[in-house]
Amino acid sequence: MKVLVINCGSSSLKYQLFNMENQSVLAKGIVERIGLEGGMLRHQPADKDKVEISENIPNHKVAVKIMLDALLDSNHGVINTVSEISAVGHRVVHGAERFSGSVRINDEVINVLKECISIAPLHNPPNIIGIEAVKELLPDVPMVGVFDTAFHQTMPEFAYIYGVPYDLYKKHSIRRYGFHGTSHRYVSMRAAKFLNKPIEDLKIVTLHLGNGSSITAVKNGKSVDNSMGFTPLEGIVMGTRCGSIDPAIVPFLIEKEGISPEKINDYLNKKCGVLGISGISSDFRDIEEAAASGNKRAKLALDVFAYQAKKYIGSYAAAMNGLDAIVFTGGIGENSSNMRKMICENMEYFGIRIDDARNNIRGKEADISAEDSKTRVLVIPTNEELMIALDTVALI
Ligand code: ADP
Repeated sequence: MKVLVINCGSSSLKYQLFNMENQSVLAKGIVERIGLEGGMLRHQPADKDKVEISENIPNHKVAVKIMLDALLDSNHGVINTVSEISAVGHRVVHGAERFSGSVRINDEVINVLKECISIAPLHNPPNIIGIEAVKELLPDVPMVGVFDTAFHQTMPEFAYIYGVPYDLYKKHSIRRYGFHGTSHRYVSMRAAKFLNKPIEDLKIVTLHLGNGSSITAVKNGKSVDNSMGFTPLEGIVMGTRCGSIDPAIVPFLIEKEGISPEKINDYLNKKCGVLGISGISSDFRDIEEAAASGNKRAKLALDVFAYQAKKYIGSYAAAMNGLDAIVFTGGIGENSSNMRKMICENMEYFGIRIDDARNNIRGKEADISAEDSKTRVLVIPTNEELMIALDTVALI
């Protein structure tokens, strides 16, 4: 069975075609700059050379068509007819309280997703456009929606209610949702397998550290807290997002910096974080390089990031009344031995000690804890696409 996984953003469409017999990737790629100048397809078949094609991509329907043409192409394609695609799994950012697991997509589901737009105006519209484009071009292929928020629907009420009037929760659905759920679910499952223990017996903190970063407390296989909130802006400081700040800073900035209320969200999402602190870049490779050559603000940005991550580990150990393992994933978590070391330093009180030699790895599953570390410290590369494909198979 072949399953196509699609992650549709406002101007890009990422895809992977899986052969689910052996969970291998037959081809993957990205259609970029949809609706902009300089449209581009980058297509990587598993056993053939990568192809890059520049062409005008006015909308998402054309993007889906270009992706299908690439998959079917006689040179760089990997299937002969679209009927080989048994199902399509879509990544959807926000399922609000309506979806606590993945679902088969039908018109009713699409309508509910549209209702969720008011609380996810940046993320859900492109996801819906992607779903509608695939529905039009592959009308007979079943589709499944997999939500970033779904895994976190097990959070207890006291973890998701904010200190604002309860009526506003009822009226506007203002509460913590948590994000990156597919990644946290995948790596916590892999961690239990890796440790050869039932996930029901484990208390794990998963750290998904990438351009967007979030941290989850996974108790007995269920998410009980996540650092992101009503939107993916809350939590640890990120590449360009401010993370949690005193909310009083927002009206202060509006007044003192003349940033309009309409622009403030964009400002906090795109101009802050380690980019804003370092003044150098949002990319951790650049910041680590600058810090290593003595740049003080780059060093400060790394210190802030590591300190905030540490505090989440500590608070989630408190929330779960224990800690068996912490898991690093995402571009930074999988690749930066330096950041892993900074986060794990001086955490002996929590039973965390890493081994420098074991920590010297990138992008593969590994136990990097020292022999005497009570808490296991793991690196587990995330695979949200495979998780989406597995859910898709399970639901069709
Ligand atoms: P996204 O949230 O967009 O999926 P990723 O998970 O790909 O992002 O993570 C991107 C981040 O990972 C960037 O900040 C990048 O600098 C960082 N990263 C990737 N490789 C390394 C590395 N070798 N060392 C340090 N940081 C790295």
